[in-house]
Amino acid sequence: MSYSRNERDLPELTDNIGAQMQADRKKQYGDADLGHERQRLSRVDKIKHKGPHDKACQDVADDERLAKEPHDSRDRGRDSYQDTYFYEKFHEKPAMYRHDIMAFMWLTSLFGKKKHSPLFFYNTLGREKQEFTLPRQAREVRMYNCGPTVYDVQHIGNLSAFVFADIIRRALEWNNYMVKQVINITDVGHLTSDADEGEDKMSKGLRREGLELTLENMHTLAERYTQIFIADLQKLNIDTEHITFPRASRYIPAQIAMVRTLEEKGYAYKAEDGIYFDTSRAPSYGILGGLNFEGQKEHARIETGATKRNLTDFALWKFNDLLGWDSPWGKGFPGWHIECSAMINATLGRQIDIHTGGIEHIAVHHNNEIAQSEAALGKKPLSRFWMHRAHIRLEGGKMAKSEGNVVYLSDIIEKGFHPLSFRYLLLTAHYRTPTNFTWDALEAAQTSFLKLRRFVDSESHSGSPPRQWQKKIQECLNDDLDTPGALALLWEMTKEKDLSTRDVRAAILDADRVLGFALDKPDAEAEALLRSKFGVSVEMKDIPERVKTLIDAREAARKEKNWQHADKLRTELQKMGYSLEDTSDGPHVFKKDVL
Ligand SMILES: [Zn+2]
Repeated sequence: MSYSRNERDLPELTDNIGAQMQADRKKQYGDADLGHERQRLSRVDKIKHKGPHDKACQDVADDERLAKEPHDSRDRGRDSYQDTYFYEKFHEKPAMYRHDIMAFMWLTSLFGKKKHSPLFFYNTLGREKQEFTLPRQAREVRMYNCGPTVYDVQHIGNLSAFVFADIIRRALEWNNYMVKQVINITDVGHLTSDADEGEDKMSKGLRREGLELTLENMHTLAERYTQIFIADLQKLNIDTEHITFPRASRYIPAQIAMVRTLEEKGYAYKAEDGIYFDTSRAPSYGILGGLNFEGQKEHARIETGATKRNLTDFALWKFNDLLGWDSPWGKGFPGWHIECSAMINATLGRQIDIHTGGIEHIAVHHNNEIAQSEAALGKKPLSRFWMHRAHIRLEGGKMAKSEGNVVYLSDIIEKGFHPLSFRYLLLTAHYRTPTNFTWDALEAAQTSFLKLRRFVDSESHSGSPPRQWQKKIQECLNDDLDTPGALALLWEMTKEKDLSTRDVRAAILDADRVLGFALDKPDAEAEALLRSKFGVSVEMKDIPERVKTLIDAREAARKEKNWQHADKLRTELQKMGYSLEDTSDGPHVFKKDVL
């Protein structure tokens, strides 16, 4: 990762690529196309003078090799062209827009909006916490989250990965970054085992629903479960409007093109049941870790026989006479891993900033994505940061659909819980430690979520966040998304006598930009739950004298630190239907109908 060398060599390097691409296009399309081509190359030239997207990570050796490689096939030329096209599409804004962004950045720096402590994420790639910054020339964070296989409803374990991705997105925006987020929809090619064995999950879904194995039925099934997935994300307060959801089945040509590139570069070979990636050709294969080579050796001997050249090789394209698409290798469908690599390149570019998934993706799926993307596109690393969420356990056991041990968001809602109570529960544990889901824990999370909401509702105006507290909360969230730490600070702050409710409210709402409980938005469901749990808020003037006397007596007992008497009075009040929430401004009183 030589910084200075990158800077010095870049113009020459890009010239080489540009000249090579021009020659390719001329060879492919003749002179007629060169007018348009000249315009396009002048845009490439503009990009060149802005510098690389990521100087620190650009692998010059790879790019040089890419520039020198013969571009004699049509697909190879298209590959480079596609790359430039997407770079321009997503990173080249119209001039007016660019000026707006620059003015905005200048203004935010002028008013000290860059107030936050440094942002650290645990990067699986380096196995350590690393400071997240964006390369100087980049304008937005490009984030890809491995998405669901839509052959069924996603359980809460699956959904937790997207709440995690949402917290990353919110934390980035809170730190003044713009984010382009992509969650892929796997509607083809994911086998029941991640290691190219077993049945295709979509085919399994079709059979379960008694549908014939056709691409049309597969599409209908996939869309139904995609819509349920997106609706569930919305219930968890994830802003799906700003997320791109590419469907794997709509990127088949891009996947075929990538497999062909790998074939031409000598990374792929034909086996009995498909085209495979030769992992022995990728020296840094398995860089993310998690691979159990010995264990795989045993497994591979039993399951795959002589099909693969190496134990860790994986399918790029699977032959299938019944279902699939035409390809240079016959009818079939793409492997699950190539889908992500092709769609990352198509929607975000050759290199991205953050790639997420569950920890179960590290060993096979993500190591495979890295191997094939870097081999096909010549850019390292595929993603600068790799972030993984730990598992959700169910009542202490493994949550697995195959074992019937699952909970869906619809179960949570049917039992009368607010869906954001589940979000709250997820944030009470750090994302790198397993969260244990129990119905009691959900009940406790719901109480906390509602109480936080009630605190915010108890004051209609916001002051300004107390600086010391705000700083502590920021440090927590910017320290690899320590949400349990931030929540603990919020509760501590509400009990702080020296702070006004308005100021505490402002600090809670500021933190909620990352936590995402929508505390400042009207929410009829939460209001109804609050009413049934705690009653309605009442003003002191509307409280009967005898109740007021008891409240005053309790306050006096608290001042004298006579906790026993204070508790006795609180119980007495509860019997009469009154509950109290102590705040720095005195108790807030709630009235509930007593049967
Ligand atoms: Zn993936």
